Amino acid sequence: MSSEYQNYIDGRFVAHRGDTIEVHNPATFELIARVPDAGADVVDEAVAAARRAQPAWEKLPAIQRAGYLRKISAKLRENVEMLATIIAREQGKVMPLARVEVNFTADYIDYTAEWARRLDGEVLTSDRVGEHIFLLRKPLGVAAGILPWNFPFFLIARKMAPALITGNTVVIKPSEETPLNAFAFTQLLAETDLPPGVFNLVCGSGASVGAALTAHKGVNLITFTGSVGTGIRIMQAAAPNLTRVNLELGGKAPAIVLNDADLDLAANALVASRVINTGQVCNCVERVYVQRGIAEALTEKLVQRMAATRFGDPLADETLDMGPLVNQAGLAKVEQLVDSARAAGAEVLTGGKRADLARGYHYLPTVVAGCTSDMAIMRDEIFGPVLPLQIVDDLDEAIARANDSDYGLTSSIFTRDINAAMKAVRELQFGETYINREHFEAMQGFHAGRKKSGIGGADGHHGLLEFTETHVVYLQTS
Ligand code: NAD
Repeated sequence: MSSEYQNYIDGRFVAHRGDTIEVHNPATFELIARVPDAGADVVDEAVAAARRAQPAWEKLPAIQRAGYLRKISAKLRENVEMLATIIAREQGKVMPLARVEVNFTADYIDYTAEWARRLDGEVLTSDRVGEHIFLLRKPLGVAAGILPWNFPFFLIARKMAPALITGNTVVIKPSEETPLNAFAFTQLLAETDLPPGVFNLVCGSGASVGAALTAHKGVNLITFTGSVGTGIRIMQAAAPNLTRVNLELGGKAPAIVLNDADLDLAANALVASRVINTGQVCNCVERVYVQRGIAEALTEKLVQRMAATRFGDPLADETLDMGPLVNQAGLAKVEQLVDSARAAGAEVLTGGKRADLARGYHYLPTVVAGCTSDMAIMRDEIFGPVLPLQIVDDLDEAIARANDSDYGLTSSIFTRDINAAMKAVRELQFGETYINREHFEAMQGFHAGRKKSGIGGADGHHGLLEFTETHVVYLQTS
């Protein structure tokens, strides 16, 4: 079967004949597209094109590479409404958030372009008379970017922009759940004069394109965002070639709320960090440890706010707080975690079941109280609009329970006591801690998980370095 959506290789769209993947709107179940499920031969062509283009791309002054990036971001800014609508339709994001995603993506590309004049090496001190030691930073070569579906548009930029500014070329594989925004991105990129082969797009499943890319000898870096299970498979596929991996994986973010916290601020931030993108964000609040003295008051505020959360089809109503979950598997997982907590003695205070709508993978905004650390809902990534609460006696207990996890991506604490906040910072085993605010990272930060949340990180100066390797030069003069 043919598809109107075409892979982009060596600066050209390539007609696809072969298997296709169906893309559905998760709010309506409507079939919206069939896209290529490319094979290993197409991956070979894309990697070969990226390899051919890389040396000349690396030789360009970084400021010229930045110029190309800025042309791409300008195209995105001219097409925010079109791009946001595609994202909302295939992923289920509400339109205001979809617009934020497009604008943030353009900002991210511009921010990365600004690094052009700041990509420095180092001059090291020598032990020898007349010797100069230079540490150069060089591109790795070809980066393969493998994307998830939850912020699918932004993730293209998070992989592409740092790769390109540092002199690498890329092959991008979008998620098979949300490929249409990547085709739209590529159409706009193709309208610029970016040299052929610098950016390539290959669409397909994890088993086809993902597996071929990660086992490919011509790929120098696999930069992946997605689940822990896939991250492990990618490391295994990369091992025979010793290909570098950069893995942004799942999370089980704890939020700690102490007796002295501003409860309205905490409740607003916790709900915002759970409702955004229908709870399908790696850094979303996944479990709340609330100190006994304010447990009742905080719970009441959370229940009230979660119950008031409005949801439905994002394209039918722009004012909704959240859309559906992305697919049936996501809905079933949320349902199973809440049901098992309830069966183990937890109390569902609001929500706790699928929404009674005719169409769409909707789950009611839910608060589950009386959770204990042995429950799966406190240990496994929920990725849905569910806040599980566990009462703790003090900060030490909260920190111990927060750290007792396979994950280590983000965390937060709500308190007016600077000593308590800084003790948490010292002891929490997470890549990020938010104090008295919602969970959401900044592009100039460094988004990196500990433990099974990943290897390496993204964003800011440290994120750029992930796309480079060092070359040390010893120059002996007389
Ligand atoms: P996923 O692991 O199911 O899929 C991600 C991508 O991997 C898809 O493009 C998929 O086709 C591909 N893939 C699947 N099998 C593969 C294989 N064997 N080889 C190579 N590629 C393969 O993840 P998802 O469901 O799309 O995304 C949700 C997950 O992503 C959540 O766990 C979430 O926490 C995580 N996530 C993490 C971050 C972060 O920055 N840490 C950001 C967003 C999402």
